[in-house]
Amino acid sequence: MPERITKNSRSVFLLAFFLYFSFIGIAYPESVQPIPWVTLETKYTIIRFLKAEDLDTFSVSMDFDQKFWGLKQLFSDKSPGTVHEEVSAKVDNLYERVQEILDMRKKSPKVFINIYPDRNLLDQAYYHIYQSKNNIRAWYIFDSNTIYININDVHEGMLAHEMAHSIIDHFLLVRPPAASAEILSRYVDAHIHR
Ligand SMILES: [Zn+2]
Repeated sequence: MPERITKNSRSVFLLAFFLYFSFIGIAYPESVQPIPWVTLETKYTIIRFLKAEDLDTFSVSMDFDQKFWGLKQLFSDKSPGTVHEEVSAKVDNLYERVQEILDMRKKSPKVFINIYPDRNLLDQAYYHIYQSKNNIRAWYIFDSNTIYININDVHEGMLAHEMAHSIIDHFLLVRPPAASAEILSRYVDAHIHR
């Protein structure tokens, strides 16, 4: 019965084809190498970045209190120590400003800030977590208390917004509804410049 053999071999072929591609699908997230982060611990945050230049770029994007930092940047020699100090001060100032706007000054666990060097790596991180395509610029995850940002697309308002999520979610004994937390966080990034 040649007909049946053909049908069977076609099914076997389709099954093999399907399995091959499901394995590729499964293999993708596992093949993602763990990112070799460098960390910088500040008073309120733990910043993770890949290379010194990324921290430099990040510092320039955070033009919070531009008058003060503008002068300092002009005259500083930009040694790694200087950049670390500069970034720590900027990030901690911003964090305190967010606490002040929210009037939520309780001590909460240090928030991780993952700084990705490009959109591609940010999207990979998103895919790794959610198994879907990323269409947002930054986000915060309560379970790991981590902010995800892309070095080429960040400003102090965005970081303040994500910091607000961390502060709000840790302030009350019960986390507020997502919609309320989002309204408060938007209020923060709209009012970050005095
Ligand atoms: Zn938000």
